Amino acid sequence: MSTKYIFITGGVVSSLGKGLTSASIGQLLEGRGLSIAMLKFDPYLNVDPGTMNPFQHGEVYVTDDGGETDLDLGHYYRFTNASLSRISNATSGQIYDAVIKRERKGGYLGKTVQVVPHVTDEIKSRIIAAAKQEENVNVVLVEIGGTVGDIESLPFMEAIRQFRYERPKDCINIHLTYVPYLKAAGEVKTKPTQHSVQALREIGIIPDIILCRCEQPLPDELKGKISLFCNVPQEAVIDEKDVEKSVYEVPLDLHRQKIDAMICRMLDLKTPDADLKEWKEMLDIVLEPEKPLVRIGIVGKYIDHQDAYKSVFESLHHGAIANGVQLEIVRFESERIFEGGNVEAAIAGCDGYLVPGGFGERGWEGKVLAARYCRTNKIPYFGLCLGMQVMLVEFARHALGLESAHSTEVDPNTLYPIISMLSEQKHVQNLGGTMRLGAYPCDIAPGSLAYDAYKKPLIWERHRHRYEFNNEYKQRFEEHGMRFSGTLHNGVLCEISELKEHPWMLGVQFHPEFKSKPTAPHPLFVQFVKASRLYSQSNPQKTDAAHSSC
Ligand code: GLN
Repeated sequence: MSTKYIFITGGVVSSLGKGLTSASIGQLLEGRGLSIAMLKFDPYLNVDPGTMNPFQHGEVYVTDDGGETDLDLGHYYRFTNASLSRISNATSGQIYDAVIKRERKGGYLGKTVQVVPHVTDEIKSRIIAAAKQEENVNVVLVEIGGTVGDIESLPFMEAIRQFRYERPKDCINIHLTYVPYLKAAGEVKTKPTQHSVQALREIGIIPDIILCRCEQPLPDELKGKISLFCNVPQEAVIDEKDVEKSVYEVPLDLHRQKIDAMICRMLDLKTPDADLKEWKEMLDIVLEPEKPLVRIGIVGKYIDHQDAYKSVFESLHHGAIANGVQLEIVRFESERIFEGGNVEAAIAGCDGYLVPGGFGERGWEGKVLAARYCRTNKIPYFGLCLGMQVMLVEFARHALGLESAHSTEVDPNTLYPIISMLSEQKHVQNLGGTMRLGAYPCDIAPGSLAYDAYKKPLIWERHRHRYEFNNEYKQRFEEHGMRFSGTLHNGVLCEISELKEHPWMLGVQFHPEFKSKPTAPHPLFVQFVKASRLYSQSNPQKTDAAHSSC
């Protein structure tokens, strides 16, 4: 059987959830026993999102092979079993970089190098590479970032048009649009969808399925209208309404409208009906109404951006699913914690606190205060990457008495460089793609909180950092009750630290949030939510402070 390709484009506005939709379709196809690969194209010129400010781009998702990629890959990971690597995400920057490097080497044999065919050929070769990354991939789902009509996405549109022209039986196009409800008119409007499909057709792409993002299910009459104007059969106009409670409802919503059966028919794929049992069982727990509430505070500096800590939020939800509790996440902007002059009043009221990864000076001291608050009040604390560095600096300052202890990232001249640059980083000049990136093995000490979670002596986790704990201080830390329970396999780098005289205060130098699924929650998130639940049971009176926080 030849490999099949599904191209997913977006129209009308951005942020329609193309990544979630692509991931959901991928899951439904996997449920039918098909093996899939996922590929995201991003039309911007950055080589990868690694150097972008999270306010611009949201989270940077890291793959095992050290790729710094778009956050949609996080959706792919959580919804599917597709293998993800650098191959799974390509930007215009990477594509042009490859073409220009080839040109400099004389690879085009004197020809004029042009967007068509050279850039489009490079794009097509990335699609083939995604199909070939594993044996027997049945379907490749290719998501094109941006919105139809954008200047920068044109080469991608042209490339997928050519790709389909070359394989007419093996490709379909799905277009995701927005069907707004205009309150003043009291009407749902299909015109933006008609226009965006028109824009697609001008490029030579005719969608096979139109997915309509909308607030409420679309009446048949409107689907008929879209069908007529857009040249798509009515049953291929599918609504994707806002979910009630959880994004994990999306695959089942699409399945109810038979999208997977339709795709298989269009691509001539003979499969059994989708087996979605495990996902449904998970969702039953999510949608169950009465559950004890656990409130987790996140103290970070990109807290106002909806997507900056995407995988962290999701992983906490997975931990809640595993513990059968309801989760409330309270966001604290670390810089603002000081504003009232009383940290306790600013952040009190949660059952556990998490400090996620981050870079630079802004917001550092607020995180240190949060760590101190958790340590001294014995409230569960989970530090991710920078969150562990903060936890160790706080410990050095207030438990070891090294008052000016710091990370050299913030204070290069500190007397006590508790966190210092990785030696391999000292000669690095470029910012992009040069951190300690990707999966590394780590030994777990028996009898530790970490071992309690993982239940095995060797684990692999993904990294993205330049600084690390300075082992010169290790003995002093240990003498004061810190335990270094995870160490780089065959190495000395401290990867996990935890406080002995505390119910659950643990930091990791890696990013466990990139390896958690709703159906396979990450063990550290499970244990953190469990510890927070225990805390909430022994401290049932919740203050309202958390509600009034940012
Ligand atoms: N800024 C810190 C470092 O580079 C932490 C990075 C992170 O949290 N991802 O080491």
